[in-house]
Amino acid sequence: MAIQSKDNLTKINNQEPLLGKSLNELTEWVQQQGQPSYRGKQLYQWLYQQGARSLSEITVFPKQWRETVKDYPLGRSTIDYQSVAPDRTRKYLLRLADDLIIETVGIPTSKRLTVCVSSQVGCPMQCDFCATGKGEYIRNLKHHEIVDQVLTVQADFQERVSNVVFMGMGEPLLNIKEVVAAVRSLNEDVGISQRSLTISTVGLPGRIRQLAQHQLQVTFAVSLHAPNQKLRAQLIPSASHYPLDKLLAECREYVQITGRRVTFEYILLAEVNDLPQHALELAKKLRGFQTHVNLIPYNPIVEVDYQRPSQQRIEAFTEVLRRENIAVSVRYSRGLETDAACGQLRASRH
Ligand code: SAH
Repeated sequence: MAIQSKDNLTKINNQEPLLGKSLNELTEWVQQQGQPSYRGKQLYQWLYQQGARSLSEITVFPKQWRETVKDYPLGRSTIDYQSVAPDRTRKYLLRLADDLIIETVGIPTSKRLTVCVSSQVGCPMQCDFCATGKGEYIRNLKHHEIVDQVLTVQADFQERVSNVVFMGMGEPLLNIKEVVAAVRSLNEDVGISQRSLTISTVGLPGRIRQLAQHQLQVTFAVSLHAPNQKLRAQLIPSASHYPLDKLLAECREYVQITGRRVTFEYILLAEVNDLPQHALELAKKLRGFQTHVNLIPYNPIVEVDYQRPSQQRIEAFTEVLRRENIAVSVRYSRGLETDAACGQLRASRH
């Protein structure tokens, strides 16, 4: 007999985790359990506001019922390992119900607490400069596993999360259904505004259009990383099946459908894509596009020998874009010392 996957078993037991469910769904669930509907609201508050980790700790529930449902899965992970960088960025390795490990990062500033969430266990895209792609790709995350990452960081910092970026492990547009469900829950249940959520993608044919149909009001970012098809395909293997002009056309459609801008991310690799002529070529490509370019100086990973450009080169690149009237900012990644920065996530302690 074939071994059943955990997913099937969960369905057979009819025990889908409760996290990620809306107030209506939770109310339905308590009623199925023979409880009055107002317990749905209680459950909702305990899950999302108090951060309950099991039904047995929800003390407003009758003791006897709590005993009966104490093992019902809420969908919470456990912290397997945690490190804190000198800039107070915290990196977490979280253990999922099936014992797989993902990485999540909490990034505090004076006004914000941003969580960088994973959308997959591993990543199949294998961008040359990214640590996640050097490991094994295993599976998509469920929406509750994404919401859980945010609640875990919120509880650990004892501070409300203000922003969430889908820039951890994985390619969000390979997991649109669960990512969209997570966005709904983070927005409606956890209470984070959609504009404070950022989905970042490498771009896959047809997927940006597909995401646009959901009419999210999130911030949408596309990892461009090169001003022409040839260089982009060198850095991003999947780009060889997706010509840059087609990607940009799909981004224009996204703007039309959602009325939201697209941000372009551009990693800066010394001597590879950081010359003034690259900046000029990029500006030409983006002409007429209401956009913002986010430059990310390369964060080192051991497998490849790219270099981060000098400050002078970064400024020169920025200056060319400014002269060409392209809105631009430089994102200096946090958590560099503990391998918690962009592109360094590999679900390992180092
Ligand atoms: N799959 C999504 C999210 C990836 S992580 C995407 O491709 O957009 C978020 C950003 O970090 C992406 O722009 C990614 O290309 C970038 N990144 C990956 N490795 C990096 C590294 N070593 N240094 C700096 N940025 C990196």
